Amino acid sequence: MPGHPSRWSRLRGRLIHLRPVRWARSSLSVRIAVVMTAAAAVVVVIFALIASTLLRDSVFQGRREVVLDDASVRFSSAQSVFDQSTATTPDQVEDAARVTVESIRTSAAGAGAVSVMLLHSSESPDTFRINEIGSSDMKGIITDDLREDVQTGGTAYWQSVRIPADSGGQEEPGIIVGTSVNLPRAGTQEMYIIYSLESEQTMIDTVMRVLGLGTLPIVLGVPFIAFLALHRLLRPVRDTANAATRLAGGDLDTRVDVRGGDEMARLGRAFNNMAASLQDQISEYDELSRLQQRFVSDVSHELRTPLTTIRMAEEMIHQDRDSFAPVTKRSAELLHGQVARFEEMLADLLEISRYDAQSALLDAESVDLRGVAQKVVDSNADLASRLGVDIRIHVPPSRCTAEVDVRRVERVLRNFLVNAIEHAEGAPVDITVAASQTDVAVRVRDHGVGMSEHTVAHVFDRFFRADPARTRTTGGTGLGLSIASEDVALHHGVIEAWGEIGVGSSFLVILPRIAGEETVSRPLELWEEES
Ligand code: ADP
Repeated sequence: MPGHPSRWSRLRGRLIHLRPVRWARSSLSVRIAVVMTAAAAVVVVIFALIASTLLRDSVFQGRREVVLDDASVRFSSAQSVFDQSTATTPDQVEDAARVTVESIRTSAAGAGAVSVMLLHSSESPDTFRINEIGSSDMKGIITDDLREDVQTGGTAYWQSVRIPADSGGQEEPGIIVGTSVNLPRAGTQEMYIIYSLESEQTMIDTVMRVLGLGTLPIVLGVPFIAFLALHRLLRPVRDTANAATRLAGGDLDTRVDVRGGDEMARLGRAFNNMAASLQDQISEYDELSRLQQRFVSDVSHELRTPLTTIRMAEEMIHQDRDSFAPVTKRSAELLHGQVARFEEMLADLLEISRYDAQSALLDAESVDLRGVAQKVVDSNADLASRLGVDIRIHVPPSRCTAEVDVRRVERVLRNFLVNAIEHAEGAPVDITVAASQTDVAVRVRDHGVGMSEHTVAHVFDRFFRADPARTRTTGGTGLGLSIASEDVALHHGVIEAWGEIGVGSSFLVILPRIAGEETVSRPLELWEEES
């Protein structure tokens, strides 16, 4: 039925979750051992079937020849006894026949005869009748076909039969041989001798049992031997897989031991070459990135002195701006704004360089985060009112103290808040402070333009700006949030962003209350439905 998994696929789905099946699926050695065992079992079964058929055929053929020879001797001796008989009455003939049948049964017993019968033939005359000799059970196993052959043909005929069990015993295989004999006056009668094949059957059973016992160690041993051999053989593959996992985890010095020159050794050598070339390339990139960082750091430092001179000159011009013509005054104001922005960007670049050089230090002191948040809100009140954004601050009544680097935490919050105000499109911005026993958290949330999934994923990347063309009040380099994430990492804290286009954005920072510890709780969630 379309859309519905079949019973087989459901069963399969359930089976593959069983522990041994999962283990077998995850190990090539086990899988191959299972396949080899199945193949060995099939070969053994086919071999046993062929062997038993051949054995049965050849034993049966040999035995049939012996039986036929014996029967023909018995039949001709019986016929000559009948030919020489002088019996005249039916009782006499029957007695003579009984004696003959009994003597055949005794003498042929050594050849495996279990029963001898003398039965009426269709040719027997009705006028001179004797009783049939032999057990009725045995008579029942002679088929009509055999009787017809015996009646019409002149020689001995045979047939395979199952001899009925005598009390308590089991049915046994046998051969029945029959021919027609001539009795004095009583005419044509059918004589049958039944030979047992029980001893042959016992012999075949014994041989098959020995054969079965002989192949058992093969069927049981194959899985073990195959598993051990394959497990050993596949060791280099496992080693290489483990090494690849370590390599992926950042251990670039990982290599595998290579022995010999077979395919496995080639795999190991290829892996080692790959790891070595990866290591070379990564160290090249590292070197390049170090050069780049040094370049940024050097340029930033070099720019500081000329910028200070420009700043001083520009300050003087700015102070005198009221004495200039309107156009010149406007230029002086623009120059003032741009120089300030330039200074900010240079400060960001220098901060990034400090992080790259790993020379940033945590200057921790115990402060109440509620005060820090309030201070950041106050210092951006002008910008907020200029853009018509209402900032709502939510703080708990109890203190939210933590050992933090105030300058850095202020910078993180300022960044969150300025970004929120700029992207709020006039909607209110909420700043929330909370604390747990171990950690403190601040969240800044706006209801403005929001962010796409791509922006959220890259918002902490250096120089990332979702819309570089967007008019910015203070302008930005795309470095603000990447510096914020370095600041938070220095505190072993957590920084997260969430956004949805048209709904708004939310930024969260969690810091441990004790400097040097890790954050272990979440006093605030990144996004909570507002009541
Ligand atoms: P910038 O100096 O450009 O502000 P940031 O690192 O502070 O650099 O921010 C990177 C980018 O993230 C911004 O350019 C902006 O596209 C996006 N962004 C940051 N905060 C928000 C916000 N609250 N709403 C929408 N976008 C934001």
